[in-house]
Amino acid sequence: MRNDTDKKLLEAARKIVSQCDRCGTCLPACPLFEVNSVEAFSARGKNVIARALTEGGIEPTPEALAKVNFCLLCRACVDLCPSKIATDDAMIHIRQYLVNKTAAPNTRYKAIGKILKSRGMVTLAAGSLALLRRLGLNSVFPHGMVPEEYTRAHFLAAFAGPAALAGKTPPSQVAVTAATRVAYFEGCGMRMMFPEAAAETLNLLKAGTKPLVKDNVCCGLPHLAHGLRDEFLELARKNIEIYEDADAVVCDCASCGGTLKHIASYFADDARWKDRAAAFSRKVMDLTEYLAKAGYTPRQRVEATFTYHDPCHLSRGQGIRKQPRELLKAAGNFVEMKDADVCCGGAGSFHLDYPDIASKILDKKRANIERTGAAVVVTGCPGCLIQLSKAAKASGGKFKAMHISQVI
Ligand code: SF4
Ligand code: SF4
Repeated sequence: MRNDTDKKLLEAARKIVSQCDRCGTCLPACPLFEVNSVEAFSARGKNVIARALTEGGIEPTPEALAKVNFCLLCRACVDLCPSKIATDDAMIHIRQYLVNKTAAPNTRYKAIGKILKSRGMVTLAAGSLALLRRLGLNSVFPHGMVPEEYTRAHFLAAFAGPAALAGKTPPSQVAVTAATRVAYFEGCGMRMMFPEAAAETLNLLKAGTKPLVKDNVCCGLPHLAHGLRDEFLELARKNIEIYEDADAVVCDCASCGGTLKHIASYFADDARWKDRAAAFSRKVMDLTEYLAKAGYTPRQRVEATFTYHDPCHLSRGQGIRKQPRELLKAAGNFVEMKDADVCCGGAGSFHLDYPDIASKILDKKRANIERTGAAVVVTGCPGCLIQLSKAAKASGGKFKAMHISQVI
């Protein structure tokens, strides 16, 4: 059984990487290659490693796993590649294969995966992190894992001015029919790291509808990305069941949204789940995608200048670039930054595994944000927001980092 699975994984990876003609067009796109011009860091290098594995040229070893783990899964290479080689998908298949084959000691991922699999543990973690923040002990945690959250109330106090703060904001003009059953998908990152932003997302949904609030489980991306595919499938089945009575499932995390939209492809060969998974994936929407569809306009305009950082899983992963920018243009002044869609270095647990490289990538992002002169950098993914909060701190207060739900 395991052998069959391994063969399928290798075959899936082979199908992708055998199309790579090694032209090297992808090299300048890869943020990892940019900080250190090592061929193995780039998509071309990773595809050569994967191809050698599928052809038996190299053995499945922990060293090979380390090489394919060193990828942000940001899809920048896919965008630039003339043949649209899905290196990120190949890396996910190969990671799973190597974890199966090497019984790799991926203890950290297993521990994180275990916490994220249990809603109870996520709630407990969210409570502990909130307490640490209240006690002011968040800064003792490394890698900005307990970020200070800049709330919508702070934002309005700083940017809206007394006139805007004095009155109650007018009701939203959201055109959602009464029949639309809209449900919120609260990802683990939002729940644990940015509860105020998650609450604002729910407020936005409440402005036009009566959202269904579900006790959902993790989207499973951390499991999928680190060789815990069975756990991913188990979580996916639970979420499919949980949201069966909803017409729309709205995510305020780019990574959750991207993963949930892809769930159908993981059940394509499963007669029992195929249709239910496809129906589920079809109704998943990013918050900005939903708001644009619903005709939402920001409740008030402020005198702040925004810039926007595209989460990889939203821009390249879901093709959503226009909607957040339109919302920001309506909420204040908007200025585009250079390389807005280049990865910030967060990439799930990448910034924990490779803090030095992640911080080099983030330095470039910070400089680009500073160059815009914007007071707030906005994004739509808690993983990016952790990174951008670190950049905001490093900038010495030149800008603040916020989730889009808090500024529109
Ligand atoms: S991944 Fe695409 S761009 Fe990169 S070397 Fe292969 S074919 Fe060329
Ligand atoms: S997915 Fe991103 S990090 Fe990985 S090889 Fe492609 S460009 Fe580089």
